[in-house]
Amino acid sequence: MKSERKAGFGTLAIHAGQSPDPTTGAIMTPVYLTSTYVQEAPSKTKGYDYSRTHNPTRTALEQNLAALEGGKFGLGFASGMAAIHCVLNLLRAGDHVIAGNDLYGGTYRILQTVFAKFGVETTFVDLTVPGRLEAAFRDSTKLVLVETPTNPLLRCCDLTAIAKVCRQRKVLTLADNTFATPYLQNPLALGCDIVTHSTTKYLGGHSDVVGGVLITNDAELHKRLAHFQNSCGGTPGPMDCFLVLRGTKTLHIRMERHCQNAMQVAKWLEADTRVARVLYPWLPSHPNHALAKRQMRAGGGMVSVELKATVAQAKKVCSSFQVFSLAESLGGVESLVDHPATMTHASIPPAARRAAGLEDGLIRLSVGIEDADDLIADLDRAMRRLK
Ligand SMILES: *Cc1c(COP(=O)(O)O)cnc(C)c1O
Repeated sequence: MKSERKAGFGTLAIHAGQSPDPTTGAIMTPVYLTSTYVQEAPSKTKGYDYSRTHNPTRTALEQNLAALEGGKFGLGFASGMAAIHCVLNLLRAGDHVIAGNDLYGGTYRILQTVFAKFGVETTFVDLTVPGRLEAAFRDSTKLVLVETPTNPLLRCCDLTAIAKVCRQRKVLTLADNTFATPYLQNPLALGCDIVTHSTTKYLGGHSDVVGGVLITNDAELHKRLAHFQNSCGGTPGPMDCFLVLRGTKTLHIRMERHCQNAMQVAKWLEADTRVARVLYPWLPSHPNHALAKRQMRAGGGMVSVELKATVAQAKKVCSSFQVFSLAESLGGVESLVDHPATMTHASIPPAARRAAGLEDGLIRLSVGIEDADDLIADLDRAMRRLK
């Protein structure tokens, strides 16, 4: 875009990083299924020499996602975990990480079972409580890893406050913005150094691709991360990049509907006597509602609900849906239901799970973009199994 005026989110989603193919005029970014690129003379290239290092379809995606987060630089990965792995490569033995305690399971696992054995130690703290972060700092702390809203309790962390404290101590902040998406929340604008997404979720949006991304505004940091991206090689194939690019074109429209549906579902659940509590950042009853309103544009598509139920009853409810599908993952157009205690968060010991506020009757909904009335009717039908 040539004008000085800053384009809106929808315009960026559809156009950023994507210009018509110079050789044919194809309006959609071609899927460059090539591993190598012919050189005119040794080392005289058109900017591409090998597809692990760079691929034009990936470049389009990286520029598109960077623009959506208000960042200068993007790096694409084969999965969300490959993206997080890339950031952890910045660390060396003896370094210390502080991470939230209500975290994506795979992030917990890579810290505890992969990087711990290379001498990187992590302290998990409740980053939703002001002051906990400060108390966890050591001289060796190099990275703070924060997710907001958290998974599955959908608590919110104050990104501005966290980034400010980290900046004073010259500690990097990595914000996992997967649940909120760049449409609802922009961690770089709030002071964070790096933002990551599992593009598998809302950015892809159609449950047909696995991918990840890192975005930063710091050229030096970008250079170091690009070195690890190329050295470790967890890059996405061009078809995967194309699918995520196709997804981001409708991100703003999908998120509007996800948020509307989630709010309707959350309100309906909150009024139901079979429900102990509903966790949704846009409900005034949510403990971090004021912060969510400050930091996010809307409440997102994820709703967690604690049913008055035992493990057995919750499992029965989860198996009784007709519109919601029982599955891990989230962020697609279709609605999904998950029982964290026996599915996504089963690896956490029961006592630790309950201590963290994750009760056996908790179910997590990824509210899709179907008709809200059908979703509510489906919830009502499944919850009849509680009798
Ligand atoms: C899914 C997810 C990841 C991991 O992404 P993959 O694409 O599955 O590797 C990381 N963080 C969050 C918040 C996620 O939901």
